[in-house]
Amino acid sequence: MFIPLSKPDLTNLEKRYVREVMNSGQLSIGEKTKRFEALFKERFYAKYAVAMNSGTSALHVAVKALGLKDGDEVITTPYSFIASGNCLVYEKVKPVFVDIDPTTLNMDPYLIEGAITERTKAILVVHVFGQPCDMDQIMAIARKYDLRVIEDACEAIGAKWGSEYAGLIGDVGVYAFYPNKQITTGEGGMLVTNRQDVALQAQTLRNQGRSPDNQWLDHDLIGYNYRMSELQAAVGVGQMERLYDILQKREKVANRYKQLLQEYDVDVTLPSVLSKCHMSWFVFIVILPKAVERAVIIEKLGDKGIQTKPYFPSIHLQKSYVDRFGYKEGDFPISEAMSKRTLAIPFHTMLMPEEQRYVIEGLKENIDKEA
Ligand SMILES: *Cc1c(COP(=O)(O)O)cnc(C)c1O
Repeated sequence: MFIPLSKPDLTNLEKRYVREVMNSGQLSIGEKTKRFEALFKERFYAKYAVAMNSGTSALHVAVKALGLKDGDEVITTPYSFIASGNCLVYEKVKPVFVDIDPTTLNMDPYLIEGAITERTKAILVVHVFGQPCDMDQIMAIARKYDLRVIEDACEAIGAKWGSEYAGLIGDVGVYAFYPNKQITTGEGGMLVTNRQDVALQAQTLRNQGRSPDNQWLDHDLIGYNYRMSELQAAVGVGQMERLYDILQKREKVANRYKQLLQEYDVDVTLPSVLSKCHMSWFVFIVILPKAVERAVIIEKLGDKGIQTKPYFPSIHLQKSYVDRFGYKEGDFPISEAMSKRTLAIPFHTMLMPEEQRYVIEGLKENIDKEA
């Protein structure tokens, strides 16, 4: 038996749309990309949606479109995938980390004000593992200090904070479509915003600095080729049309895991979810007891064909950040402690109840042995 950590949920619908593109001969800048963007505008009430070739590209463009530059500081979380820090570093903007709340694993909003200096221009929140941050507190701080807000919603497509969609609460938001995300295009990203100026900059930057009304060889800005291909967009259109179904299936699988963990009385905790959050399940994370050696659990589960991964190492302790910024162990102790204890277990829409039982039995057996 092999149970992978993740698996994309693709059907004949996506295949049909890809075939349409193949038959049309229009492989970039066409109707499928427009349709993919339109679906984000419709589903999430976004005024603008700009498709790109990765979530990281879209984050980079978000940073540039807000005019952030060398010397500016942006407050963000160390407990995330590295791209949420790197998109700032690309522009020589300093990521100023604040520690996380150990129960939600999201940036602790109570620590933000203490990190603000006269150079602070924005807050980059990451809705980690699909749970939105406390956006009431974060938006209140942003208003008080006149800061922009970037939402890295790469793990939180369709998640809600109250009645608002993650990604559309701040100035600009980003989703990502790597194969382990809730929906995929192979590689891909989407920038969403209600600000016309940000959308125009984003459209220009992704397309070699051509503004939407430029001729093909007129370039207003030094831009990038961050465009999404029509083949990718075709997959994305199918995925977006099935989004509600996919998210519901993921929620069902997550609920089954919760039940099994109770049934087997497994000695792990789960990240807690704030009452105003409706989460969009990205991965299923368990927090291991302090005394348990995670590497052993990963190895033992691996022997049983169960793939698991230690999500997330803290960004500030990555070699690239230690070398550049001089961060050291102890700088963000809660993030570091949680980085040592969090484990992602197999999670996707097609996971069968028997497979989930096998995973939880394996987890139970090995934690009890280790503790
Ligand atoms: C997936 C992800 C991204 C973007 O990743 P890409 O592989 O570039 O699409 C950014 N931030 C977070 C938190 C992510 O999980």
